[in-house]
Amino acid sequence: MIKTETPTLNLSNLVNGEKGIITKVLGHGAFRKRISEMGFVKGKTVTVIKNAPLQDPIEYKIMGSHVSLRRSEANMIEVIVPLDSVINEKTNYNGTFLTDSTNEIIEKQLKTINVALVGNPNSGKTTLFNFATGKHERVGNYGGVTVDTKEAHFDQGGYRLNVTDLPGTYSISEYSPEELYVRKHISENKPDIVVNVIDSSNIERNLFLTSQLMDMNIRCVVALNMYDDLERKGDSFNYKELAKIIGIPIVATVASKGMGIKELFNTIIDVYESRNPIARHAHINYGTNIEESISRLKNEIKKNKKLSDSFYPRYTAIKLLEADSAFIDQVASFPDTADILLVAENEINSLEKEYKEKSDTIIADAKYGFIHGVLRETYKHKELNKIQTSQAIDVIMTHKYLGFPIFILFLWLMFQLTFSVGSYPMDWIDSGIGHLSGLIGDILPAGSLHDLIVDGIIGGVGGVIVFLPNILILFFFISLMEDTGYMARAAFIMDKLMHKMGLHGKSFIPLIMGFGCNVPAIMATRTLEIRKDRILTMLIVPLMSCSARLPVYVLLISAFFPTNQGLVLLSIYMIGILLAVIVALVFKKIFFAKEDVPFVMELPPYRIPTLKNTLVHMWDKSLQYLTKMGTVILAASIIIWALGYFPRDIEYSKDYDKEAASINLNSNLTDDVKETHLSQLEIDKEAERLENSYIGQIGHFIVPAIAPLGFDWKIGVSIITGLAAKEIVISSMGVLYQAELSADENTVNLKNKLQEQVFTSGPRIGEKVFNPLVAYGMMLFILIYFPCVAVIAAIKKEANGNWAIFTMFYTTALAWLIAFTVYQVGSLFL
Ligand code: GDP
Ligand code: MG
Repeated sequence: MIKTETPTLNLSNLVNGEKGIITKVLGHGAFRKRISEMGFVKGKTVTVIKNAPLQDPIEYKIMGSHVSLRRSEANMIEVIVPLDSVINEKTNYNGTFLTDSTNEIIEKQLKTINVALVGNPNSGKTTLFNFATGKHERVGNYGGVTVDTKEAHFDQGGYRLNVTDLPGTYSISEYSPEELYVRKHISENKPDIVVNVIDSSNIERNLFLTSQLMDMNIRCVVALNMYDDLERKGDSFNYKELAKIIGIPIVATVASKGMGIKELFNTIIDVYESRNPIARHAHINYGTNIEESISRLKNEIKKNKKLSDSFYPRYTAIKLLEADSAFIDQVASFPDTADILLVAENEINSLEKEYKEKSDTIIADAKYGFIHGVLRETYKHKELNKIQTSQAIDVIMTHKYLGFPIFILFLWLMFQLTFSVGSYPMDWIDSGIGHLSGLIGDILPAGSLHDLIVDGIIGGVGGVIVFLPNILILFFFISLMEDTGYMARAAFIMDKLMHKMGLHGKSFIPLIMGFGCNVPAIMATRTLEIRKDRILTMLIVPLMSCSARLPVYVLLISAFFPTNQGLVLLSIYMIGILLAVIVALVFKKIFFAKEDVPFVMELPPYRIPTLKNTLVHMWDKSLQYLTKMGTVILAASIIIWALGYFPRDIEYSKDYDKEAASINLNSNLTDDVKETHLSQLEIDKEAERLENSYIGQIGHFIVPAIAPLGFDWKIGVSIITGLAAKEIVISSMGVLYQAELSADENTVNLKNKLQEQVFTSGPRIGEKVFNPLVAYGMMLFILIYFPCVAVIAAIKKEANGNWAIFTMFYTTALAWLIAFTVYQVGSLFL
């Protein structure tokens, strides 16, 4: 076997006689201190004296003396095996190795620093990450953009810095998956340095997370980001003093301009090399009662070596006192921890009796007390000007009675402008596409390619591009609302109502947007910080009836509901909303029962946005819509077109060409009548062809599934084509029910055809297909089922594939169930 590289191992992996050079000691501060006092420090060589697979402790020789380490301790020491030493001792190696390269590898290993970025959402972590590593990850002016981790490295001062950008969190408790994720990353990946990115304009809240990092006794550096904001406000902050108090070096940064980043990483290197004068472990004093509990619990924990090697005992004690259930589970997975948990329970009981509060609240209050105290020492507000104006505006904007109408007014204005202003460019684009397809249609010879390009591609993609102006305008307003800070107020106003549904105030915005188009609505869920809220909102957005579904309702209502038409339409929308409420409540119970997050509703100061920024934000959002959705729609329209187009060699039930010729020759008919007959003949032929096309076959195939809803195969096909986009439903119906659909008057034509439609096969042959009941069921089905491919793609992108698949199935199942109930129950009465 030839070893070609020197991997990093844990000391416990080495076998008897093997030598290793220590590259890193992982774990919390107290552990590292103890281990280094035993001689295990970076760069030293260790030899294994006795190590068998099940042996514990293991015996080592280091600096001339024999010491034994528990296996769990040896696990926390990273080593590399110098190849030359292996060769000397193990003669069965037949490769050749260069000592120089081994040295290089050791050198490199010693100089690799793993850095993790943690901090509140929107504190600038990704901006900092991008600037430092030269990457281009997405940054946003709203929270929750980083939902997964990003890793990259760069070199500075002779060191390799591996930087990980973690999701934003306000805390690292058990409240949300993000928080658990960050906590897990810190305790499992054991980054050498944790960088806590803090938003200077929100120091008090940001320091809460810092206080939790202090508890963990890990090596931290604070990036005091958005320092420009603080300076602009004219506040003065003696952060160097704060750094001394908390024992964590603080570097002021402006990540968006790259200021202070170099210094930040130099500080990180210094802390890593233990030569930073400020870095030390400082405790937060939680007050006599809590401290006594901590100390009693800590003594119990220290008896369990495995546990106290893995987590800093004081931290374990605090976490247990907070009754953090995820952490308790973790502790319980260590052997012999029953006593510890018992002591913790007793301490919690006595604390809660004393304070008449939940223990985690007691500890959080103590933390805020500490933060409040240190800030009073170090932070001086210059003037409250901006905050005061903001507060003055808010008196009106978030007023108990005025706030709501003002908000509705803004919304109304937004939609009004979106659709009224948007309709002009929409018409231009529409006629542009018309000209284009006419032009290309003329150039290309008739045939499959002609049909593919004109009907499949230009028809399909054109259908999407037409909506671009509306989307640009809608996004412009949304960006404007975000950038000024009004969006936060809107969420604030709606919060109470949304909370009743188990959602967040901010969920309201995507839901409202959903009435226009579900795709940007799904993308807008990004404004929600918490994953649970994001997912829950995404799941119910499809129940907001988008504008593409409207034409179907209009057609069916005008055909089958001669009276109360407006009311019928309203009822469809209302049923959508009602279902959304129910679905949200149910899914919250099923999927997120445990995650009731005490959330912070912040009201950032109002800002006057720059036009450039707002335009950039608008364009960002629109570009995604165009590229991602354009490609999905393109693919889907080509597929549906092809399914409806092939096979070409159909045996028709009658010879249409012969019939056409005989009409032409019939001298008894006037030209007008001939024309009508001929076009009807063409429609009949096209309908027969479609029935035999693949999509027609699919329609027949699903008849058993949709017959209980009172649907025929043509409705089935229309529904299937609607998978690509709901706009397509109506044009499919146009073709299937044998009416031309080019001008408005033809809607009337299609309407009549629908009324006359009978079943052409099956048990109900000859019976009328449509009646008000079937029409209503179909409208509900269109409302609820599979939103469209673009929406599913958006959910996949914003949440993940599983949620996308889940949405596909739950919506379709629900649609079926509702349409089934309407038809079956209705049939009993009508
Ligand atoms: P994350 O959620 O912590 O990853 O934050 P982002 O990196 O996405 O940044 C949030 C917003 O803050 C973006 O609009 C950035 O352009 C902006 N930003 C980041 N750093 C600074 C800074 O130092 N000063 C100012 N004024 N804005 C910043
Ligand atoms: Mg981010």
